[in-house]
Amino acid sequence: MNTDILIIGAGPAGLAFARALENSGLSVVIVERQPRAALADPAYDGREIALTHKSVETLRRLGVWDRIPAADIAPLREARVLNGHSHFALGFDVGRTGADALGMLVPNHRIRAALFADIEALPHVTLLADTPVASVATDRRSARAVLADGREITARLLVGADSRFSWVRDQLGIPAEMNRLGKGMLVARMRHETPHHGVATEWFDHHQTIAMLPLNGDCSSAVVTLPMEQAERLMALDEAAFGAEIARRYQHRLGAMTLEATRHLYPLVTTWSRHFAATRAALIGDAAVGMHPVTAHGFNLGLSGQQLLAEAVLAAAKRGGDIGGGPVLRAYESAHRRAAWPLYAGTNALVRLFTDERPPARVARHVALRLAQRMPMVRGRVRHSLMAR
Ligand SMILES: Cc1cc2nc3c(=O)[nH]c(=O)nc-3n(C[C@H](O)[C@H](O)[C@H](O)COP(=O)(O)OP(=O)(O)OC[C@H]3O[C@@H](n4cnc5c(N)ncnc54)[C@H](O)[C@@H]3O)c2cc1C
Repeated sequence: MNTDILIIGAGPAGLAFARALENSGLSVVIVERQPRAALADPAYDGREIALTHKSVETLRRLGVWDRIPAADIAPLREARVLNGHSHFALGFDVGRTGADALGMLVPNHRIRAALFADIEALPHVTLLADTPVASVATDRRSARAVLADGREITARLLVGADSRFSWVRDQLGIPAEMNRLGKGMLVARMRHETPHHGVATEWFDHHQTIAMLPLNGDCSSAVVTLPMEQAERLMALDEAAFGAEIARRYQHRLGAMTLEATRHLYPLVTTWSRHFAATRAALIGDAAVGMHPVTAHGFNLGLSGQQLLAEAVLAAAKRGGDIGGGPVLRAYESAHRRAAWPLYAGTNALVRLFTDERPPARVARHVALRLAQRMPMVRGRVRHSLMAR
């Protein structure tokens, strides 16, 4: 099989990239190890993705946004950061922007379903689901993949979109920094007594971090970060005990709580690929940068990264150039690294500071939040990063 572009991984990043090449005249093959049914109707995975306005615009341009049921889209009107036992909260709102929300919360499985819908009907796309890949290799002329059933695919460009544990990255010999944090992020949709008014909170409490993300109705997504064994104990509680425990851990700010859907636990691992590109190959989405979820940048960054690669590829195709050549890959790599590094390093620094229980760190974060509150420029920058289109 010959194609212009071979994408490995039909997650949100891979699917968005395939869609971005529609009407370009380029052929795309997507190889995914999950079965087709799991892609068409993805299971609920507990993740509520906080999308920036820019991401919403990108999804709109890709023809995906209107496929997400309105009932599943929840506006995030305000965000507050709390620290330990302090009553002080650093707040972010829409200010004078005229917008009515900082961003939108959408369940991950709905985003995946919307990105997948009709992908097989797109004339430029061939999807091979339930298809393990045995090997990939690239040289200056082409990229090649051998599937487990022996079929071979040759492409002008190979794209690894196969998660933060990217197998493609390993096959290409691209080193990656991988930090296993020994903690778990437990996510659970909770119904509560008191309304949330569209306010998200991120509370860096002592020995736990707990976020509440406002969903439609009197529901929030509780996101609790704990050492793995404590998170596992929480997962094992029966539903009634779990509801009471989350309400207690959140100091009953939203009243009594009951569990609304299945709970999910994600071990926290952050990754940074030393290169986002190699000969005739590029990494996108989490395969390039696996963010700590606490700042909600992962998919937003993946979406802007795939767009950068698509723009470079489309420009090369338009001028009749080499879509998998060095100039295209270098343009993508340098633009995406410039955008991604401050977010990756900044998020990791924030996590270190806000989870360090030593007295100097406690003082430092108290001071940092107070300073940020007094610096409209800082809060303006955060607001801008969420709201820029
Ligand atoms: C708890 C939690 C909350 C989050 N909240 C937010 C948020 O609020 N905002 C935000 O922007 N981001 C958030 N994220 C991050 C976001 O979910 C990820 O960045 C995003 O899912 C990455 O998409 P991806 O397509 O790169 O990778 P994935 O979603 O991991 O998809 C990879 C795909 O590749 C396939 N695959 C893997 N290996 C192979 C192989 N060898 N061969 C073939 N196929 C393969 C997999 O089956 C999968 O379909 C959160 C993450 C977590 C865990």
